Amino acid sequence: MTAFLELRNVTKEFGRGIFRKKRTVALDNLSMTINTDKPVVKAIAGESGSGKTTLGMMLMGFLQPSSGSVLYQGKDMRSLNRHEQQNFRRDVQAIFQDPFSVYNPFYPVDHVLEMPIEKFKLAKSRREARLLMENALSAVGMQPEETLGRFPHQLSGGQRQRIMVARALLLKPRLIIADEPVSMVDASLRATILESLRKLNREFGISILYITHDLTTAYHVSNDIMVLYRGELAEVGDVEHVIKDPQHPYTQLLVDSIPWPDLDQTWGTKEIKLSSSIAQVKVNGNGAVGCKFADRCPHAMTICVQKSPPLYLVNPTRASACFLHQDAPIIPREEIDRLMA
Ligand code: SF4
Repeated sequence: MTAFLELRNVTKEFGRGIFRKKRTVALDNLSMTINTDKPVVKAIAGESGSGKTTLGMMLMGFLQPSSGSVLYQGKDMRSLNRHEQQNFRRDVQAIFQDPFSVYNPFYPVDHVLEMPIEKFKLAKSRREARLLMENALSAVGMQPEETLGRFPHQLSGGQRQRIMVARALLLKPRLIIADEPVSMVDASLRATILESLRKLNREFGISILYITHDLTTAYHVSNDIMVLYRGELAEVGDVEHVIKDPQHPYTQLLVDSIPWPDLDQTWGTKEIKLSSSIAQVKVNGNGAVGCKFADRCPHAMTICVQKSPPLYLVNPTRASACFLHQDAPIIPREEIDRLMA
């Protein structure tokens, strides 16, 4: 079956420094597919520098891979014709971290809802357009009569973000990519926005890709999770198992730093304490070979700096890229979808 959206062996490098001669690898040979026939909420989690936002930008078509390909319904994004591009723009909607930047302060918030209606010719009359906006706002739990006609600064950050969720819904997309949608929103409003996303998944059959640095919200909102470390997949599988019983040392350290059960606090702000035993393993100088986590890993072994760990199938719903599981079977990275719901 052709995947709705697929990353196939994607590497993304950015140039930096004078003349951009130094290279930073943001994504390293990553493969994943997103199918929308069975709508799921999939989380991509990682700290800053894990490559999660680069991955999201690539899936949205805003960035091109340095090598590998991004496929939309089996076709390389670079070779989509105009009609296919239009379909893609409708099928895949984005919700970003900072909703305020999307609004024009001189226009009422209606403007951000009217734009997609006009662009995609969703309504034949002003009355029909108004009805569409009202329905979309109601679907995300907002009162249309108290929202339409107001200016961005008259609404809270949480309300502005919920309007962006309503805007995404207008186009009846098959996938919403939400990149840190609640990180700039008051803790008290996070749950409401995340529940709006869950509702779109449950009631409208829209798949959600939830990109976050926050494992607690990932746990509460998603079915599956992919944990990235420095552009590579560390652990993947059913969220319940990955968070409750992490198998990769990096995921274990992240989970240990979660201030359970308080959903309002985030991980990633607390420094991860490492065992001094890591000093016993000499990490290769250029970092080109071996496990990227070796210099932080309390369990690092000699093999860890000699070659990259493949993905091991730890149990039927989970895989971990770590030599601690080398007795388990290796699973090709293109097959990780079968671990997911
Ligand atoms: Fe640690 Fe080695 Fe596993 Fe990497 S492969 S996470 S260094 S034990």
